[in-house]
Amino acid sequence: MTSSPARFFVDGRFHTTDSVEPVVEAATGEPLGAGAVVSETDIDQAVAAARSALPDWQASSPEHRAGLLTAMADALKSRARPTSELVSRENGMPISLSRGANGSFPPALFRYYAQLVTELPAEEIRPSITGHTIVRREAIGVVAAIIPWNYPQALAAMKVAPALAAGCTVVLKSSPETALDALIFAEAAVEAGLPPGVLNVVSGGPAVGAYLVAHPGVDKVAFTGSTATGRIVAEICGRLMRPVTLELGGKSAAIILDDADLDATLRGLRAASFVNNGQTCHLSSRVLAPRSRYDEVVDAVAALADGMAVGDPLDPSTEIGPLVSSRQRERVLGYIDIGKNSGARLVAGGSVPKDRPRGWFVAPTVFADVANSDRLAREEIFGPVLTVSPYDTDDEAVALANDSDFGLAGTVWSSDTERATNVARAVRTGTIGVNDYQLDMRAPFGGVKGSGMGRELGPEGLEAYRTLKSIYRVGPALGDPPAQQYS
Ligand code: NAD
Repeated sequence: MTSSPARFFVDGRFHTTDSVEPVVEAATGEPLGAGAVVSETDIDQAVAAARSALPDWQASSPEHRAGLLTAMADALKSRARPTSELVSRENGMPISLSRGANGSFPPALFRYYAQLVTELPAEEIRPSITGHTIVRREAIGVVAAIIPWNYPQALAAMKVAPALAAGCTVVLKSSPETALDALIFAEAAVEAGLPPGVLNVVSGGPAVGAYLVAHPGVDKVAFTGSTATGRIVAEICGRLMRPVTLELGGKSAAIILDDADLDATLRGLRAASFVNNGQTCHLSSRVLAPRSRYDEVVDAVAALADGMAVGDPLDPSTEIGPLVSSRQRERVLGYIDIGKNSGARLVAGGSVPKDRPRGWFVAPTVFADVANSDRLAREEIFGPVLTVSPYDTDDEAVALANDSDFGLAGTVWSSDTERATNVARAVRTGTIGVNDYQLDMRAPFGGVKGSGMGRELGPEGLEAYRTLKSIYRVGPALGDPPAQQYS
């Protein structure tokens, strides 16, 4: 704990607290600023502000909310450059990625939901046995949005934009590691003219998150983070009968089919398997290689790792920056030790780069001959560490991909798109890429099994913040003719 006060945002105003946690620059280990660790009273006030703002916000027209969301988009866009630089300094994300993920994507998402909410009707009429039923979509209420540190602006936008569009009010809790950039959302809300209480921004660690999740004034929890924490959140929400969306960890497979163009595959794996220094939930971190081309693939993936530009995250040519914290680096180095002591073969990296003693760097690392039962293949490492394992048939590749506690993402690489798509259909996962992996803001994103429940993005991401009400009415049959069973 340091003594300079830190800011948080409740009921349209910035407040300060002396309870802080230092935010540290990932590339140097030097202090960057102070993040607020809010108190239970602060959260009570944030939830109360969101509750009292709810009736007017919920009752406002979609067009009114869309106008304010568009103003939010403009305010975020005008801050895109400093925002992306700040996040890179906080969590080590290469600036070339941060400009898109933290600079362009959030405003684009606000614009997308601003448009969508004016196009998706809140009410529809269906014919019924007594006349007709109004099927109504209503804002679910006050949302507790909890995010991790790895893509802080993008993940905040994936919750805040659809929630506000739907008519919900929000208490956003950021991670201590990225408490500073979250305040940019608050600044944008002020500039956009969001009514006080519609968006509140707080920060703090597990105790703050746990208090918010269980708060009696919260109607829905939207959580992104580790599977371990997600289980705790899900248990609390289960007990409270509180709707919850969980976007959790992953351990996805990159299935390289035997007809794959290896050069094109490696160009794609640069991002699909190493993006954000390996600190990405949808990473294709388990490479499955056909035995007929196994040595070729192992050599190529090792060369890819060895050739990646490791360096200052603010340098546009950097491909691999530092990890977020010394704790995260210790965790990743621990997994590398586990790999070295297993039957696996280290073929690239495996240590802290010698020319990067400062900051939390780990060299891109590849282990070959990894059994799918090894911890290296089963657990989410969340660093630049890949495994390569052989398979004999497409069916075996699918079975290996599916033999996982997770199911968030994955990729299939082949020169035959239809063949690869059929393999993709057979993988039990929430999302999967064919010859690339790119999130699509118009399509649902989320996981199965230990990777979570519910979806973000697309129209489904808006419906996650609306609840259904059926109003049965006696009167003329409106809408389509009654269904056969009623006649
Ligand atoms: P984490 O679970 O430790 O923390 C996530 C957030 O939850 C933080 O804000 C933290 O303060 C808060 N928190 C911690 N304990 C809590 C509790 N008991 N109750 C309520 N909130 C609590 O995760 P992390 O280490 O910050 O983030 C990395 C994880 O996030 C990885 O597992 C990654 O795969 C996952 N992730 C998933 C997605 C996705 O969309 N599926 C996206 C990004 C990251």
